[in-house]
Amino acid sequence: MRHPLPCLAIRSIYCAILSLLAGSARLSAEVPPDFSQRDERSPLNARCKVDSLAFPLICVIQEMQPKRVAAGEYANARYQEDGQGCAVLWRIVPWQEKHAEFLVKYKAVREKAGDGLAFDQERTKLLIWCEQEKLGDCIEFVLRDFFYHRRAQPDAALYQRMLPKWRPYGMQRVAPFAVELPVKGVWHILKDDTKHHQKNHWSMFAFDLVRKRDGKFYQGLNVNENHYAWEQPIIAVCDGEVIRAEDKFADHQVGKLAAANAGNFLWLNCGGGVIAEYGHLRQGSLAVKIGDRVDSGQVLAKIGNSGASGGPHLHFTLLDRDGFSIPARYQTAVLVGTQWKKMGVAELVEGSDFARGNDE
Ligand SMILES: [Zn+2]
Repeated sequence: MRHPLPCLAIRSIYCAILSLLAGSARLSAEVPPDFSQRDERSPLNARCKVDSLAFPLICVIQEMQPKRVAAGEYANARYQEDGQGCAVLWRIVPWQEKHAEFLVKYKAVREKAGDGLAFDQERTKLLIWCEQEKLGDCIEFVLRDFFYHRRAQPDAALYQRMLPKWRPYGMQRVAPFAVELPVKGVWHILKDDTKHHQKNHWSMFAFDLVRKRDGKFYQGLNVNENHYAWEQPIIAVCDGEVIRAEDKFADHQVGKLAAANAGNFLWLNCGGGVIAEYGHLRQGSLAVKIGDRVDSGQVLAKIGNSGASGGPHLHFTLLDRDGFSIPARYQTAVLVGTQWKKMGVAELVEGSDFARGNDE
């Protein structure tokens, strides 16, 4: 799956959330945080305890640059210089002396490098410097900058060489709260034998889900309609807001891949910098529209076989606000005898069966 990022859409939603914060009431700690509270409780919205380096999201890099923030200041407030009154930060880390040099070098790279060769050379040089200085946060930021802008470039070789450098950092960006599974009942996580999800930053930690009975994905002829996953409902993994959705593309038959950008999909903003992405949806199956607020467990659409999909299945990942795939933890159940029992929070494992519990 591949599609342009709705940075501005996300940004305006985030602005709306921020503007609501002043008036929102605090609930007791026993109540799980809801959509708005997940943003409110973000450490990005607190005063910095020590001098810090604040990194913006890459999608607003044209307007905001990495910046030093003094102890006691709000990093978000410092970013309200563009007149929009909105801050969109990625991370805040404790200040180190070497960060001053990083800020100078990063600014120079942005001023010097346009597209193409200069873009690659300047960012590669900066990356090597960050590696020599062992500035992990800066390494990750430069890689994110590279991947985000590199996506549009025709030559993908350098992108593929850089991706493994980012994976260990990406593994640490686990979503700050667990979500529900995106389907009802018992499902199977496909083994990614070709590691195809690891070839893009927007799918690095994604899973492909299918239904399996007696070891098979379908009954009879291998056509869409005979697959157990076909037209099964996908459900909201969190309470949230639908921020992107598309169901105009036709489903193709099993084994006939369409272009990656010709797939139906849905983005659900869970708040707290976490977006749930559902891919390969059935043509015309959307039960919600952009802007809808939904409850956890609500039906969103049906599983199809659109886009770069070999057979009916659900592609699922959590994304951050820059559209980078991040690891997730799920509310799952285990099979005890013949009953699926709720067991709490776990990571999904390729080649295993999972269920939400009490669904069937
Ligand atoms: Zn997938």
